[in-house]
Order: sequence, then C-alpha cells, then structure tokens
Amino acid sequence: MSTRIYILRFPKETSNEPIIYQLVKNYDIEFNILKADILPQREGVMILELKGSKDSVNKALEFLKSFGVNVERLAASIHRDDEKCFQCGACTGICPVGALAIQRPEMLVVFDPDKCTGCSLCVPICPVRAMEVSLGAGTLAEVEEKTIV
Ligand code: SF4
Ligand code: SF4
Repeated sequence: MSTRIYILRFPKETSNEPIIYQLVKNYDIEFNILKADILPQREGVMILELKGSKDSVNKALEFLKSFGVNVERLAASIHRDDEKCFQCGACTGICPVGALAIQRPEMLVVFDPDKCTGCSLCVPICPVRAMEVSLGAGTLAEVEEKTIV
C-alpha cells in the first residue's frame, strides 16, 4: 500500500467527464482531493492524493492518461508549524506510525519526522492546519499558487 500525491492537469474537453467517479468505481484505490480548480469548458488542475497497491495506482494513472490527463508526481514530506500548533492532541489518534505522540508527563504533542511516512492523514485533522505537506518546491499552498490560476 502506498500513498502518493499527484498534480493532474485536465484538458478542457474532459471537464464534463465523470473521470474521478470512474477512477473510484473501477480501481481499488482511495483518494483525497487536496485542491481542485475545474470549471466547465476550461482546463482544470487538481492536486490528488492516491492510496492503494502499486499495481492499482499504476492502472488508475494509465486510465487518467487515456483521457489526455497530464499526471505529475509530487514528492511529499510533512512538516509541523510549531507557531500554529496549540497542542490539542487531535492528530495523535490518527497517525498510524506514532510520529505524532503525547510526551508524558509534560503532555506535549511531539512530532518525530524520522518516523513519519508522509501519509498526510494528519493534515485535514488538524483544526489550524499546522501539519503542512511540503512538495519539494515548497508547501502545498505555494505549489497551489504556482499551478492553479
Ligand atoms: S503524515 Fe502520516 S505518518 Fe506523518 S505524522 Fe502525519 S499521520 Fe503520521
Ligand atoms: S492537531 Fe494540529 S494543533 Fe492539534 S496537536 Fe496536532 S498539529 Fe497541533
């Protein structure tokens, strides 16, 4: 099972096609739309996280490409903005590898980047978006700024 993030660029001819619906229906994958800007009769851009076996993800990507969708993989790593984090602990229950954990007796939420697999499950859970996806060239917000107009 792997989790990877991709930027998809949809040609305007595909803007009315239910491509993402078919992706979920026909392939054994889970997905999380991190950002989307798709309007009728316009080229669209979507930042999509795909989770599944390597084989399922590869088949899903081939399916997307068959519609003329340009697919680019983004290398992701996770950072915590300690200025934003207010130690609520909400993220510690969702992290599958214990990279976010409560340190006792101080009751501090600590983040261990060496344990983190980059699955990004903690990103939408955090109420103040302190957990940030870094995509090589910058944070997700910076990549969105460059790719979505
Ligand atoms: S990205 Fe995944 S592994 Fe890393 S801290 Fe968040 S939930 Fe844990
Ligand atoms: S959910 Fe966000 S604010 Fe709460 S402890 Fe985790 S990183 Fe900090």
